[in-house]
This record gives sequence, structure tokens and C-alpha cells, in this order.
Amino acid sequence: KVRVRFAPSPTGPLHIGGVRTALYNYLFARQHDGDMILRIEDTDSHRFVPGAEAYIIESLEWLGIHFDEGVSYGGDYGPYRQSERKHIYKRYVDQLLNDGKAYIAFDTPAELEEKRKEIPNFQYDASTRMQMRNSLTMSEKEVEKLISDGEQYVVRIKIEPGEDVKVNDLIRGEVIINSSILDDKVLYKSSDNLPTYHLANIVDDHLMEVSHVIRGEEWLPSAPLHVLLYRALGWQDTMPFFAHLPLLLKPDGNGKLSKRDGDRLGFPVFPLEWKDPKTGDISSGYRESGYLPEAVVNFLALLGWNPGNDQEILSMDELIKLFSLERCSRSGAKFDYEKGKWFNHKYIQEKSNEELAALFMPELAARGISAEQEKVVRVVAVMKSRVSFVKELWDQSSFFFVAPEVYDEKTVKKRWKEDSAQLLTELAGILESIDNFDDVEATESTVKEWIADKGYHLGNIMNAFRLALVGESKGPQMFDLTAVLGKEETLRRLYKAIK
Ligand code: GLU
Repeated sequence: KVRVRFAPSPTGPLHIGGVRTALYNYLFARQHDGDMILRIEDTDSHRFVPGAEAYIIESLEWLGIHFDEGVSYGGDYGPYRQSERKHIYKRYVDQLLNDGKAYIAFDTPAELEEKRKEIPNFQYDASTRMQMRNSLTMSEKEVEKLISDGEQYVVRIKIEPGEDVKVNDLIRGEVIINSSILDDKVLYKSSDNLPTYHLANIVDDHLMEVSHVIRGEEWLPSAPLHVLLYRALGWQDTMPFFAHLPLLLKPDGNGKLSKRDGDRLGFPVFPLEWKDPKTGDISSGYRESGYLPEAVVNFLALLGWNPGNDQEILSMDELIKLFSLERCSRSGAKFDYEKGKWFNHKYIQEKSNEELAALFMPELAARGISAEQEKVVRVVAVMKSRVSFVKELWDQSSFFFVAPEVYDEKTVKKRWKEDSAQLLTELAGILESIDNFDDVEATESTVKEWIADKGYHLGNIMNAFRLALVGESKGPQMFDLTAVLGKEETLRRLYKAIK
């Protein structure tokens, strides 16, 4: 059975790259009728940030990425927070020690620092471990004495040098790394009786029966160590498949997209707004910036994966059907923020006018404008093709709700001719004779016939007409505008301009 996990560390807000990792896991799980697990990896208490866990859950729920099991979802393999699994890990540490696959090391930070100075490019491994203070260089008695004296220690994996370690990656194929370049990573610390990421991660993936580890490329260098750990624990036959996803790169392709890039480059890199609990600094989020969750999902899905054709608009259901790890790219994906806006534009168009009106009404209310829902629906219908965000609707359509108080000077200079008042007076007469402004085509042809009959200049009249109704030269097609304003309001604005 396919079982995947998303395993964030609650060290701050979830980065957009982490969201993509969660999304790909979700697509893969759904496609295979599998389970999606949320595991919180909080063994590093120094980096714990309050609120981060709740933020992660809220973010993914907002995007429609739901879990079957895990923190706040429950399940048969819990607890799902590593800090609540302390009692589980010690057993496996002891097993590794008993089997000679790991050893105890007493070197203090100062001693390690000393060695680093002494040996260029020092690494704790087969070439150096015999010079250090550990259970390989001490008698059993000495080790026991130090421990009972309360000396702090760590447990390190004992990596045998000179072996080509193979990692089978579903995206990258076989990746081979020689064990000589790996160091004897710390698996466990006596100071807090907690395992490090590497051990906890492997033990949990095993106990939670994870079938596929799908995670960011930054973990690829750790994968050989993980393969060796599976073997050291005797779990090589049930080792999960690995898939390391390509990095998200800065928009210019120069390096990895970082948590700081958002505010620096002017776009969000977090799903939701985040307030740093220490500094109080606020980082912008996709939700608060006006993105629709469907648009964010579609945008992220295509950063590092493609369906094999040029289809770009893909719903979550379509993504679930089409997604495949084999089609994930190996090279980094440039974070093209403009494309993200484009997706939002597309998804805005997909929304019904009623849905968009419902999103727009609160913005109107906030500006003290009470408009009939019906009118807002009509405004949205005419204007939505021009916006990428609901919040842009006001800028594009305020004149539907507020008559111009003043007329834009530049436009007046350019568009208001000597005979404009005269012509608009005549136009008002024509409009008075039309009963139903809702019929856009009929209104338009009546007005245009009159202009043609008189041999007037169409452009001049329309420009002045627009200036009268809008106050400047922007806005939708003229008779879409009069239809929404209605006869009374159209004529009121027209007469006011002529005066
Ligand atoms: N806790 C790790 C992280 O924060 C998980 C890495 C993995 O998926 O193995 O990314």
C-alpha cells in the first residue's frame, strides 16, 4: 500500500517549496489510493517556533491538501509528533550499539573545535575516529564510568569506508556515493535524550510503514546515510522508495529560492501571512495577497513537473490523475512569480460572477459603499477579464459605484471639444427615448444610427460621453457601462457634465 508522509520541522512558517513537496506527496497518495501522513519533526528543541505547527496545518488545509493520518488527524501509527515518541527511539539506538553499527562518543565541542584546527577539513569518520574519545578507543569500563559520572555523550553511526552506496531515486535514477566521503553522523544525544533528525526520520518511516519518501533535493546528500541506516537496522528489505524533488530557484535562476527572497523581491514565499513571534515582523502570504487556493496549487504543480503536453490549467482532480514522479524534472525550477499571477487571473475567470461578487462585496462595504448584490454581479461580469485579483476590482470599477466628482484634467483637455456640450445634450435626448438600457446592442445601434444620420464624429462623441460618466478615459465598453448604470444614473451624470 502506498503510504507517504510530509514531515516538516516546526521551525517557522512553511516555505512555498515545502508546500510543493506536500502537494506532490498528496497527488501521489491520492492517485494510488494511498495514505498521506503528517508527521511533525520537532526533535531539535532549539529551533522550535511556537505557532509553526498550526500554521503548517492551516496552510495545507487552505490549499485543499488534506491528510489521512497525523498530527491533528489521528491514526493507528501515532503519536505523530516526534517529541512525543522519545521512548521509541532509544531502543533502536541500543540495537545499533549492540550490533556494533554505532558507537558512543564523548568529545566535547571544545575538543572537536581543537581537532578542526589541527586537521584541515576535519571530518569525524574512519580516518579520524581512532584519535577521538569514543567507545572504539576506550575500554568498556572507562565508557561505563564516564556515563555513570554523568558525562554527556552522543551516539554516532559507524560508517565503513570505501563502499559505493547506491540510492535508487525515482526521479534521478541510481545515485552512487562512496561511503568514504560520509561522516559518522550523530544519531542521538544524551543531553536531551533525543535522536537527531536522521535516526528519528528512519525509525518513524519504518514504523509508520512509509512506502515512498518524496522530499526536496536538499535531502539527497543525506540519502546514502539513510540507506546505510536502513541496512544497519536490518530493514533494507522494506526500505521505502526515494524521490528527491528539484529545487525551486530564484526567478532569475540564480540560486535557491530562500525564505527571505519574498520580501526582498516583492512577492510572497509563504502560503499564509506570518508574524514572527520574536521580532513581530510580518511576511506576506498568498492567501492575504488575494490568491485563490486553486491557482496556487496549479502554479506549484507545474514548478518541477509537467503533464507531457502544453495543458496548463489543471484542477486538483486532473493533477491527481496525471501526476507522475517520472515526469518530475531533475533540474531546478525557476520560480516565475508572474506566471503565478497569470494563474490567478485564469482562476478568477473560472469563478462565477456571483462568487466573485461575494468576494468583492466586503471590499465595497469596507469603503462605505452599499451596493445591491445584483449590481455587483453585473459589474463583476463586465470587469473581471481585466483583473488578476479580486482586490484589483475596485481600481477598475469604482466609477460604477461613485459618480465622478471631478473630471481628469488631462482627459478634459484632450477629449472635451468646443461642441461636446452641445453634442451630449443631443445624445441625452436620444437616450431619453430608450426605455431599456439592459439591451446593450439595441442601445448601441440606436445611438450609432443617430450619429451616422447626423454625420457626426463617433469617436469625439464617445470620448466625451465616457468622460462624463467615468471622469476619465478608462472603463469598459460604453454600452456595457450604461447598461449597468441604468438610464437614470447615466442621464444624471450626463446632465451634470453638460452644465
Ligand atoms: N524534517 C525534514 C524537513 O523539515 C524532513 C525531511 C524528509 O522528508 O525526510 O524537511
